[in-house]
Amino acid sequence: MQRVFVLSPERTPLSPCRPARARWLLTHQQAAVFRRYPFTIILKHAPLDTVVPLLRVKIDPGSKTTGMAVVNDATGQVVWAAELEHRGQHVKKNLDDRRAHRRSRRSRHTRYRQPRFDNRCRPDGWLPPSLESRLSNVLTWVARLRRYAPIAAISQELIKFDTQLMEHPDINGAEYQQGTLAGYEVREYLLEQFSRTCAYCGKHDVPLEIEHIVPKSRGGSNRVSNLTLACEPCNQTKGNRTAQEFGHPEVQAQAKAPLKDAAAVNATRWALARRLQALGLPVETGSGGRTKWNRVQRDIPKTHWLDAACVGVSTPGVLRWQQTIPLLIKAAGWQRRQMCLVDTYGFPRTKAKEASQVFDFKTGDIVKAIVPSGKPQGTHTGRVAIKASGNFTITTKQRAVPDVPYRYCRRVHRADGYAYQKGAGAFLPIP
Ligand SMILES: [Zn+2]
Repeated sequence: MQRVFVLSPERTPLSPCRPARARWLLTHQQAAVFRRYPFTIILKHAPLDTVVPLLRVKIDPGSKTTGMAVVNDATGQVVWAAELEHRGQHVKKNLDDRRAHRRSRRSRHTRYRQPRFDNRCRPDGWLPPSLESRLSNVLTWVARLRRYAPIAAISQELIKFDTQLMEHPDINGAEYQQGTLAGYEVREYLLEQFSRTCAYCGKHDVPLEIEHIVPKSRGGSNRVSNLTLACEPCNQTKGNRTAQEFGHPEVQAQAKAPLKDAAAVNATRWALARRLQALGLPVETGSGGRTKWNRVQRDIPKTHWLDAACVGVSTPGVLRWQQTIPLLIKAAGWQRRQMCLVDTYGFPRTKAKEASQVFDFKTGDIVKAIVPSGKPQGTHTGRVAIKASGNFTITTKQRAVPDVPYRYCRRVHRADGYAYQKGAGAFLPIP
């Protein structure tokens, strides 16, 4: 079983305990629930023996999901594990939407505003917001774990995810991050990506030219994802057509496929390592090859959280993971900055948003409601969506229950920007 985090009355992290022990402490009024996710209890009296094991938090950063594990190096016990799902593409889509609305607004005849120039500088170490959000998620969870468990060290995988990167050490994070590679690197990269052949007729051992999949004259960009290699005859024949119109839609997919996820992981991995080092704990970094070797040696199946548990040289010889149930965490964001919703043309569609808190409840809180009578009669536990009227909607495991009066609701977990997968990790009945 996943261990339960334990805090002293002064909120110092103590040795995590088994669920049975936590249940005993709770039913005998020796402890209280401090936090639902991750499940943490706080003791009511200072314990006599305070031998605290030193734990290690291990991270396997991924572009969509990051695996996390808290491991006791001395015993090999996986104390706690989680899979953290990011919202990178979601962030990007929101920003793209906003950009589109602003652009259309500018081309309308509205009040004249002096143009602003030279206000577009980016600080050193700037990352695109979608990547920054992945990084913040990991750092948030490392900080939380340090509050609830005696963490003494960190392990992080510095991923080697594809052979191209190993064959092209020149392609470093910054270039991936921008999505463009300059001059020589572009050519070398494309030669590798299209196996030194013409993308359209498959000929090799002929002079190849760099070719735009969507022609520049029709708005195609210079990004690597829009470039391919073609022999001179194919390039001439294709002319001003896109690859799709030329009868080769697969070229487009091939050019785009490897970069998207690769770019995300690559640009974030070094930044994450730097920021973890700034926390002041010893940080061990391991390669993807080492993780896989550790995992195969110990005959462990591949999941994100088990990969995390296998990161680095420090991995114990015997890893005790069989009883662990990972907590599934999904980054949900806090709320929008957008003041009202807009229609297709960027005009306001709804009235301005109202207070985000109603009777001390906030959308995203996990609540338990015991309703004695009326339509929503019964006991409902789940995520709440608030309404100014005080009649909330609770989304339980089975269904959405509308019109639950706020006075029957009791908050179980305050909204913290993350959603938690049902069941996993929440193994204690809600008291
Ligand atoms: Zn050709």
